[in-house]
Amino acid sequence: MTTLKRVDVHVEGIVQGVGFRPFVYSLANRLGLAGRVHNDVNGVHIEIEGAHAGVEAFLTALERDAPALSAIERVTVVSGEPAGHHGFTIATSDPGGPRRALVPADTATCDDCLRELADPADRRHRHPFINCTNCGPRLTIVRGVPYDRHLTTMAPFGLCPDCAREYHDPGDRRYHAQPTCCPACGPRLVLRDARGTELCGDPIACAATLLRAGRVVAVKGLGGYHLAVTASDERAAATLRGRKHREEKPFAVMAADLAQARRLADIDDTAAALLTGRARPIVLLPRRDGPLPVASSVAPGSRLLGLMLPYTALHHLLLAEVAEPIVLTSGNVSDEPIAHEDGDALTRLSGIADAFLTHDRAIHLRADDSVVRPLPGGITVLRRARGYAPEPLALRRPVPRPVLACGAQLDNTFCLAYGRRAFVSQHIGDLGNHDTLRSFVEGIDHYCHLLDLRPEIVAHDPHPGHPATRHALEIAGVDHVAVQHHHAHIASCLADNGDPGPVIGVAFDGLGHGPDGTLWGGEFLRADLTGYERLAHLAPVPMPGGAAAVRQPWRMTAAYLRDDHPGLDVAARNAAHWAAALTAAHAPLTSSAARLFDAVAALLGIRDTITYDGQAALELEQRADPAETGAYPAALTTTGGPLVVEGGDLVRAAAADLAAGTDPAVIAGRFHNGVAAAITRTCVEVRHDTGLTAVALSGGLFHNALLLDRTVQRLRAAGFRVLTHVRVPPGDGGISLGQAAVAAALDGR
Ligand SMILES: [Zn+2]
Ligand SMILES: [Zn+2]
Repeated sequence: MTTLKRVDVHVEGIVQGVGFRPFVYSLANRLGLAGRVHNDVNGVHIEIEGAHAGVEAFLTALERDAPALSAIERVTVVSGEPAGHHGFTIATSDPGGPRRALVPADTATCDDCLRELADPADRRHRHPFINCTNCGPRLTIVRGVPYDRHLTTMAPFGLCPDCAREYHDPGDRRYHAQPTCCPACGPRLVLRDARGTELCGDPIACAATLLRAGRVVAVKGLGGYHLAVTASDERAAATLRGRKHREEKPFAVMAADLAQARRLADIDDTAAALLTGRARPIVLLPRRDGPLPVASSVAPGSRLLGLMLPYTALHHLLLAEVAEPIVLTSGNVSDEPIAHEDGDALTRLSGIADAFLTHDRAIHLRADDSVVRPLPGGITVLRRARGYAPEPLALRRPVPRPVLACGAQLDNTFCLAYGRRAFVSQHIGDLGNHDTLRSFVEGIDHYCHLLDLRPEIVAHDPHPGHPATRHALEIAGVDHVAVQHHHAHIASCLADNGDPGPVIGVAFDGLGHGPDGTLWGGEFLRADLTGYERLAHLAPVPMPGGAAAVRQPWRMTAAYLRDDHPGLDVAARNAAHWAAALTAAHAPLTSSAARLFDAVAALLGIRDTITYDGQAALELEQRADPAETGAYPAALTTTGGPLVVEGGDLVRAAAADLAAGTDPAVIAGRFHNGVAAAITRTCVEVRHDTGLTAVALSGGLFHNALLLDRTVQRLRAAGFRVLTHVRVPPGDGGISLGQAAVAAALDGR
């Protein structure tokens, strides 16, 4: 005799707009089960009944085989009495209550769609806008909630009868695929010249011809416009740099597929998974020399190449037509935000691009490409944007009242947190730029609307001059919480790892205001989410000229070495200003680790002045010999307060080696190892005093893979449990998560 079983299943997470109900429908039908499924306010609800074994098989497959874009956070199963359902149905959604269904991230074209794209017999053969429930644009086209076609930028495109039939068929891959379309009803691709006049012929073929002829083509992507040239063409790459006013910051390259990418860079399994994954970030990889040439202007002075694979059908078609890798860099001038509105793009990029490959589906939300870097045993997310945002990060403890965290000044993101979820926005950028600031303010409103959320607590940096702080303080009727910059870094690492602390937090960073009025950035904090204490720091040095020292790293060499520079080139090169730097009236004190790296980079002749943020430290890492095992020593001193790490010892040791004729690559290696050793020794001292045995590493300096790897190795060898970033950047892009975590922890106390 068969025993009938009935269960009610509630599934929470990213389960709406990702094909979850059709998946449940076909699973139930395959297993011969009866019941129904519907969306409700915070997930999917399933009633299922049938043979005992069938129901058990259903519950197993529900999580194991869930649709590609879903992310199940929790499944609740309650047994009940069989209701005598006949067959399985998809019920209409529950329209009541707050709408907290989550908008998915933009997703690379899936294999099923790629097969159709390549099939001459398919009605979507070579259709640049092909997508389905498992792939396509999401966050960047959503205007409002619920996530439904009429509230996306696909609203103007009425479904043709064929597309409508698929859209309404629960057995079809395009059931309720909101952006679905075909050549008969979808957006139209056009190629325009720099004045906006439409060019005739096949837009993709003509764009490819222009690229192969060395022209710059603006290409409308998912989150904004890119600028493209062929990657092998030095003249074209140099032209693009000149027109964009981007002197040295590396360009990213898009390859047609993994096989082509392998001819440009060394790609291990981790890197291959990142490149082919549905988020499709730019992946920083060790470049290969030889098989496929890349123009020297693409990534000057770097052993790495930022590589990505096509993530829209348009990219796939274009790359196939060009038949070689292309540079694909953000469509902007210098440090402006990436252009995403058609009129604005034509205005701002007309002096840069010779042609525009564009279309009439609007981009509602600007989103840059994400950037990740594989590391031994993990990855570092350097920029979290398209493909990742707005996926929520699960929190260890529920947030009592909704929190908005306004983030940092540079590399801004903001964060909204409620329940057990934190939503970190896509990378917004430098709030010193007016357009970026507008994106920040509008972005917060948009996310609040999408999440149906009114923040009751607003967290922000304490510095009153930051635009993010000013915006935070203008929000009335909420509780404000100021979170110190480096505490926010460590809290971010704790939240990223679901760890409550306390830990020894090592925040190695650029500049952040300390409560003592100096600029911090080489800090050892005893920290948990509710507070911190400064236990140790790099010895403060003057920053001759203040901000001028950030742009001119040689000033930091002068600050560290002063008059002790026996025959060093860096002093000779800057002799005219060296003495003035030492007596500069404006020379704020800083314990910043970034400035220590700057000093050594300039000392080694790598960089006296920089053209983009963090350039000197980045190039110092590139120069270092990874095989070098020597390490410069740094003294630890104390006068009763926090321990002081004498960073100047490292600079002087490097200067002595240089004067003795040692290879700069060896010196750079010994310096990195010396910093890792100094961090470890300081943590051992702190452990002795506090009993803390876990270390959290955060701050922009840990974008440096060599420093991160060496530090983790030494700390582990010394018996520490080490927390590093996993889901958000170690740099200022992760600050908003830390601010939110601190504000929530203080609220829950
Ligand atoms: Zn698809
Ligand atoms: Zn259609």
